[in-house]
Amino acid sequence: MKDQKLEIIKNKNIKNDFYKIVFKTEDFENCTPGQFINILISEKQTPFLRRPFSIYESGDNKLSVIYRKVGPGTELLSKKKEGEKLNILGPLGRPFPDKSGDTILIAGGVGIPPIAYLGRELKKSGKKIISCIGFKNKDLILLEETFNLFSDQLIIATDDGSYGIKGTVINALNKLKEIPQTAYACGPTPMLRAVKEWAKKKNVAAYLSLEEYMGCGYGICLSCVVKHKNGKYVCTCKEGPVFEAQDVEI
Ligand SMILES: Cc1cc2nc3c(=O)[nH]c(=O)nc-3n(C[C@H](O)[C@H](O)[C@H](O)COP(=O)(O)OP(=O)(O)OC[C@H]3O[C@@H](n4cnc5c(N)ncnc54)[C@H](O)[C@@H]3O)c2cc1C
Repeated sequence: MKDQKLEIIKNKNIKNDFYKIVFKTEDFENCTPGQFINILISEKQTPFLRRPFSIYESGDNKLSVIYRKVGPGTELLSKKKEGEKLNILGPLGRPFPDKSGDTILIAGGVGIPPIAYLGRELKKSGKKIISCIGFKNKDLILLEETFNLFSDQLIIATDDGSYGIKGTVINALNKLKEIPQTAYACGPTPMLRAVKEWAKKKNVAAYLSLEEYMGCGYGICLSCVVKHKNGKYVCTCKEGPVFEAQDVEI
């Protein structure tokens, strides 16, 4: 983990409220899908805490994140210009584990970018990948072309049925004929809860990346704890954000 000032190479609106920010890096090369960075968006008092974002791309002296503008921190981030430098802590957290066998990737909302990063990396080892991604409606679909590049089958679900399967990713998962051995998921907590239940029923090993509120990002402030099956509380930032679904209470 390093704390360093990185220069912004690009910060661009890519769709609706989503932006992609790219930083110039020299020694941020050992990032793995599922890990995140904690960005100090302002040196002033507000927003006081750093904001965590999953890594979307890393390599060639670049690091990128795709973020959704939802509040004061991300609003301020969206106004940052090329050439400005931001204080970045990372890479943080434990990544998705590399498991053998066929894989299903499940994502929604701001969970789409880290799962796309994972898909690109898994494809390099020749795995069969089914991707199942969900959105409220057709206009909110994000990174479809990227998912098409590494997915042997791409299933898109929209709540209103305006594109793909009507319903949630869980409706789509319930329609699968063949169930892969391993699932990786990131997205809103209700979706992750439902994935956990589905995985238990189908006997799938599922790895969830939790996006709890967090402060420090490295296990000191304890603002992101979740209950582990061993009865103890664990920090999402340090012991996670990726956990085996049945190991944590969400
Ligand atoms: C490990 C991790 C990885 C993340 N990766 C990404 C990413 O790749 N892209 C991205 O856009 N966002 C990601 N997030 C969420 C992102 O950190 C928040 O959206 C951001 O901190 C919001 O800051 P803000 O000041 O703009 O809004 P705030 O004022 O802090 O919040 C605005 C709204 O968003 C909700 N919110 C804020 N943080 C969270 C959270 N962690 N979970 C659920 N709801 C939240 C608040 O309830 C509020 O309604 C990630 C979060 C974590 C913990």
